Amino acid sequence: MFRLPEDYFAQAGGRMMALARDLYPICRSITGNGVRETLDIVKQRIPLEIVEVPTGTPVLDWEVPNEWNIRDAHISNSKGERVVDFNKSNLHVVGYSAPIDAEMTLDELSPHLHTLPDHPDWIPYRTGYFSDTWGFCLRENVRQSLSSGERYRAVIDATLQPGHLTYGELVIGGQTDQEVLLSAHTCHPSLANDNLSGIGLLVEIAELLARHQEKLRYTYRLLFAPGTIGAITWLAQNEDKLDRMASGLVVSCVGDGGGPLYKRSRRGDGLIDQAMGHVLAHSGIESASVKDFWPYGYDERQYCSPGFNLPVGLFQRSQYGEFPQYHTSADDLDFIAAEHLAVSLDLVLQALGIVETSCAFLNTSPKGEPQLGRRGLYNAIGGQNDSAELQLAILWVLNLSDGEHSLLDIAERAGIPYERVQRVATLLEDAELLERPG
Ligand code: ZN
Repeated sequence: MFRLPEDYFAQAGGRMMALARDLYPICRSITGNGVRETLDIVKQRIPLEIVEVPTGTPVLDWEVPNEWNIRDAHISNSKGERVVDFNKSNLHVVGYSAPIDAEMTLDELSPHLHTLPDHPDWIPYRTGYFSDTWGFCLRENVRQSLSSGERYRAVIDATLQPGHLTYGELVIGGQTDQEVLLSAHTCHPSLANDNLSGIGLLVEIAELLARHQEKLRYTYRLLFAPGTIGAITWLAQNEDKLDRMASGLVVSCVGDGGGPLYKRSRRGDGLIDQAMGHVLAHSGIESASVKDFWPYGYDERQYCSPGFNLPVGLFQRSQYGEFPQYHTSADDLDFIAAEHLAVSLDLVLQALGIVETSCAFLNTSPKGEPQLGRRGLYNAIGGQNDSAELQLAILWVLNLSDGEHSLLDIAERAGIPYERVQRVATLLEDAELLERPG
């Protein structure tokens, strides 16, 4: 489907890493200038439409929250030395913390401190959305160095005020108005795999789809939105479009070397479910797996809520929550790699290629096997080094092309990689042995 130069994936891996490096320092949350800054950088690559939804807007069972912006934060000792400094890591502040500037004892400060005793050098990532509280995340080693005789000053210079929720959307129109939704979350601060890897992957896909736009069967809608509340806001504002949603994929944690893992949509019968399952089964990656839907995770939870029940799955490398670096400062730029991002991109593009091209053909000569030699088909495949496999694929495609079986159905039933089935279908169509049903 996507004809790509040989070095495409190596180059794309490098670009995804470069974008992650650019976005990494930004302090993002579910609202605020960090998300805007992030989307502005993405917009330098793809023509995103930036949507701003005012605080207080009712969205499904929720409401768009106050906007959170932070300028500075620290815990300082009585000498004025910053023992915890937001400028060194934006993970140091609990996301959505209420502003504070107060002196207190360690006992008073302690309920507001979060550490990871098992990983004393890592800073945890915590958020406090929808709760009027504040807190700091720090290394357990630093926590241990604080003394009970000391008075500390806790400062969070932040605002939590009516503003907007910001998301980015890009629509790439295809030949039909049936849509494929691709979605990544944009609300995590300096975390690389959980957040930035997905953004980078969607940017690459957007550029590729735009280059192949004249050939696209589906219309693609790419969504860069804060987790949960962003997807809920988008769904609330786009309910009229949902009956056109033919397939969808949420991507997150796609830059590490684990998995890959595909989590099926709630309904489990979407073309994307079948396509991703097929791609992973034929990927040659031993640790590849497919799991049934469960109602926790990323924004597939919203797309697959019972009132929508969209065929939207989740693609990951390591499963969220299952790798030790998850939601810690160790999910940094060293945790992801260009080669892993490239593999993730390849797998997702293969699945989208199937979604784009799989259809049910009709064998125009279904009584007895048609004579292939007379139509030059043996010559067409004879020179190729997998000619025996191609010949078998031809027989499968001819036999099952009764208008009921899609090319993907045939690949699955025959246990043949889709790419081969599609290649011979093109040959058979050219030889007028296959036609697309009216
Ligand atoms: Zn997360």
